[in-house]
Order: sequence, then structure tokens, then C-alpha cells
Amino acid sequence: MKNYILVGVAILLLAFAAWRLTGRRSGKLNLSRPVLQPAVCLNCQQEIDVERPFGEAPPYKCPACDQRTACPWWYCYDCHWRFVPELRKTEDGRVRPEGNPVCTHCGCANVSEWYPASGTQTPMGDAPLPHLP
Ligand SMILES: [Zn+2]
Ligand SMILES: [Zn+2]
Repeated sequence: MKNYILVGVAILLLAFAAWRLTGRRSGKLNLSRPVLQPAVCLNCQQEIDVERPFGEAPPYKCPACDQRTACPWWYCYDCHWRFVPELRKTEDGRVRPEGNPVCTHCGCANVSEWYPASGTQTPMGDAPLPHLP
């Protein structure tokens, strides 16, 4: 009879430990946390990592000049240059990057946002920044 109680206590302790572990793990995996995005500001021309609020579209608020003019770098797989897609003004007066960005250096559409951590996107040069509309 004593053994059954010991086994029962052991199971309870294990369950408690597992609960503590998974609780801590889910606390670390917070998807709503802002992501750091390598960007360049079209207003003050600073290259800067901006905190990208989850689900928010660029341009982001520049930590240096406080304007919403920080745009993520893009990368072209054809000419291997870094660039910022052209911007346009929408009807509500907001500035938005083009919907289908093309490389401002060679004009192709074989592009994606630049993630230096990927290790496969090594820029050969930086295209001139677009003007603010
Ligand atoms: Zn700025
Ligand atoms: Zn290109």
C-alpha cells in the first residue's frame, strides 16, 4: 500500500515539474514581441535596426529622427544589390512601399526582404535611396 502512495506522489511531482517547464517555455515564445528589422531612414538617411511591431506595415518609426520614414532593406537575387523599393502616397495621405517591389538597381522582381541572418544574401552594393513622395 505504501508503494502505491509513493508512486502517486512521484507522478504528481513529475506532472508539476512538466507544468512548470512548459509554462516557462511558453512565456519565452511571445509572438507579439517586436522583431528587430534592419532598415534605413529616408528622412535622416541613418541605417538603423527598427523595432517592427508585429503585423505592422512599413515605413516604421525611425528611432533616430522620430519620423515614420524607416524602410526595410530589400535584396535582389539577380544583381545582388541592396535597395529600398519606391514609395507612393495612398489616398489617405500615408506613404507606402510599392505593392510589388522591383529592384531599383536592375529592375527585376527577383527580390525579397533582406535578412542578414540568412547568410545567403551578401550585398554587392547599395542602390540610391528613393525619394519620399
Ligand atoms: Zn530617421
Ligand atoms: Zn537587381
